[in-house]
Amino acid sequence: MSINHPSFGMLDDRRIIIFDTTLRDGEQSPGFSMNLSEKIRMAEALTELGVDVLEAGFAIASPGDFESVKAIAESVGQRADTPVIASLARAGQMDVLRAAEALKAAKRRRIHIVIATSDLHMKVKLRLTPDEVIQQTVDSITLARQHADDVEWSAEDATRSDPDFLCRVVEAAIRAGATTINLPDTVGYALPADMERMYSNIVNRVPGVEKIILSTHNHNDLGMGVANTLAAIQAGARQVETTINGIGERAGNASLEEIVMAIRTRQDAIPRSNNIKTTHLLRLSKLLATITGFDVQPNKAIVGRNAFAHEAGIHQDGVLKDAATYEIMTPESVGWKTNSLVLGKHSGRAAFRDKLNTLGYTIGDNQLNDAFRRFKELADRKKVVFDDDIVALVDDEVML
Ligand SMILES: [Zn+2]
Repeated sequence: MSINHPSFGMLDDRRIIIFDTTLRDGEQSPGFSMNLSEKIRMAEALTELGVDVLEAGFAIASPGDFESVKAIAESVGQRADTPVIASLARAGQMDVLRAAEALKAAKRRRIHIVIATSDLHMKVKLRLTPDEVIQQTVDSITLARQHADDVEWSAEDATRSDPDFLCRVVEAAIRAGATTINLPDTVGYALPADMERMYSNIVNRVPGVEKIILSTHNHNDLGMGVANTLAAIQAGARQVETTINGIGERAGNASLEEIVMAIRTRQDAIPRSNNIKTTHLLRLSKLLATITGFDVQPNKAIVGRNAFAHEAGIHQDGVLKDAATYEIMTPESVGWKTNSLVLGKHSGRAAFRDKLNTLGYTIGDNQLNDAFRRFKELADRKKVVFDDDIVALVDDEVML
């Protein structure tokens, strides 16, 4: 069924809202803090990438956080193509008013309220009864709606919350005026089957849920962030909360580039759409790595150095004949110029000959055999064989 949302208007069933929290959840991880001008650069690049909602920070957390949310609202928030700019707030008056103040200049704004709903968090952390949590939820959403038409409410630790209580508090949040309800796997505990159960429970039991957007926000403590996000989509979530390179608290969040490319590559299983310009993905990943000083690991999906690199001989031979043999998406579709055939000890004759051709050498079969044998000897000694090594090796061969 389609839905009418204050920030997005009529949304059809297929449309997925991409909520990026690189600048809030991502920035909260140790060593990943960014200064004001770095945050604005990231916010501009995220806007050009096509995110729908950009969580700029947690306004009350510090004067610096307030200033950066405000600065993003006053810069990116004025553009014709601005995403919805969001600030996080706990479920209290001071927090909500501070978020509203920081966001004031944004043409499109969202106040994002969070309160914990699991027994453990309510008892130990908040020292509130379940009824008090419902009351604070209602009061803070009511206040937020006086400052923004677009209000998100998050049930922190939702995946470890009692399912019946979760239904009660979500129903109260919707009645109070929340337009997006987020059910985070805050501690990265859930398995995909748990996500399906949790969302189905809400979808089937909570009155009014058909009028709001259900959202998902998953941490990677068990490496399950992306899998859980996709499971949530299948069970009714239509907003996904993500970060570039999967940065975030502890083991990080579900990565934007992996979710977007999973949806794009597996349209047969996940027939959903979004506004992300996938050819910008690598650029965003590299910009974030440059700003934070943390590279992604070489085997990182989509944006890692090896994501489209082939060294094994059988694979290189296949890719040279037809890239689809070993590539489920093209490197160009996510911003790489091309795939790379890395020459190493696992490489075969076909890739070696291809490399010689691109370096401008055409040599006879006998010479090729000799050069290939010498290349294998060299590759046993060196992890990666560079173009210069090949040139030296062939020039030797030609001289002999
Ligand atoms: Zn989080």
